[in-house]
Amino acid sequence: MDAKLLDILVCPLCKGPLVFHRDRQELVCKPDRLAYPIKDGIPVMLEDEARKLAADEEP
Ligand SMILES: [Zn+2]
Repeated sequence: MDAKLLDILVCPLCKGPLVFHRDRQELVCKPDRLAYPIKDGIPVMLEDEARKLAADEEP
């Protein structure tokens, strides 16, 4: 994914920065513990589409 694109992406809920997990192709918001999927290289910044991290999962 484009690093410049990653720079401008923020969590739609808390407007905080996101962490890109290349292996899982997800963008993670640590405070909200939500993982936003990247589909075909396009981040899906929708709360409805986001995956809740498991309690024992590293954000
Ligand atoms: Zn957030």
